[in-house]
Amino acid sequence: MKSLTDIESTVSVARRGLMLVISSPSGAGKSTIARNLLELDPRFSLSISVTTRKRRPSEIDGVHYHFIDVPTFERLRATDALLEWAEVHGNLYGTPRDAAEKAMREGRDMLFDIDWQGARQLQEQAKSDIVSIFILPPSMKELKLRLMRRAEDSGDTIAMRLRNASVEIERWRDYEYVVVNDDLDRAFSAVLSIVNAERLRRDRRPGLFDFTQALLEEALDL
Ligand code: 5GP
Repeated sequence: MKSLTDIESTVSVARRGLMLVISSPSGAGKSTIARNLLELDPRFSLSISVTTRKRRPSEIDGVHYHFIDVPTFERLRATDALLEWAEVHGNLYGTPRDAAEKAMREGRDMLFDIDWQGARQLQEQAKSDIVSIFILPPSMKELKLRLMRRAEDSGDTIAMRLRNASVEIERWRDYEYVVVNDDLDRAFSAVLSIVNAERLRRDRRPGLFDFTQALLEEALDL
């Protein structure tokens, strides 16, 4: 009898990709968790957003974001090229539609590092494909320290992001999972557990039908 893994690799119905949405207030560690996940799990690709924010010194255009100007952003928005978009901390951010839809069609998993406004828009469009995780800081004091330690934003930007953190934290109920990042290893392993469990969900495994049929047929011969 064929194993479930064999069946899953040949079954004609495409597996539906997972849309993993991770949000958090700025500085709660979401980007580190996302980076670790992408390094460890080749099944994930990152949705690279467009943004009108100024590039930070450590960022690479086309890797962390596609950095664009406001008229270009407005053109993308007007032509429905964005799956979702939002204004966050005074800048515009959006998810390019083509890359995300291609990944979904091919059954690949995609990671979205977006804010609560974007998460809500995606949930309205593709609820059954979405797994949403909200990362909380262990305390506001620690959040402030982490923002200052990053040292890539001006004092004004840090102050604005801290003020906005309260508004963002209030959205925790919109998410299916909430992880407190008091320790990076622990928070990361919680995220991995969520991903692993979600991949095992019945409706994400089209090979299960053939496998259970084969089990039942085998049972008749025993
Ligand atoms: P940062 O400027 O620190 O890179 O990101 C600021 C916030 O914008 C973060 O909460 C991040 O998740 C969010 N963000 C990044 N890209 C997108 C996007 O495409 N759409 C939405 N809605 N939010 C985004």
